[in-house]
Amino acid sequence: MPVPKRKRSRQRRDKRFANKGLSIGQIGLCTNCDFPLLSHTACKECGFYKGRKVLTTKSERGAKRSVINQTRVAKQEALEAQMQQAATGTQQGS
Ligand SMILES: [Zn+2]
Repeated sequence: MPVPKRKRSRQRRDKRFANKGLSIGQIGLCTNCDFPLLSHTACKECGFYKGRKVLTTKSERGAKRSVINQTRVAKQEALEAQMQQAATGTQQGS
């Protein structure tokens, strides 16, 4: 069974407890949406900092992506319809 080679000194051992008294800082609220926030951080919920929009939120990115996907699908369908129309047009012509 593996065993520690040396005894841990008191100093080394007690360093582990040195951070026990730490506490997180003041928790404030977002001025825009009242979401609890640490001070000096931008709100992840609404993307605001000091009353100004500074971030795009995850939901906004998702909405943008869905719009892009919808336009892409529509373009693809239009192209396929055009190709089909062209194919039937050439068959009728010959
Ligand atoms: Zn907010």
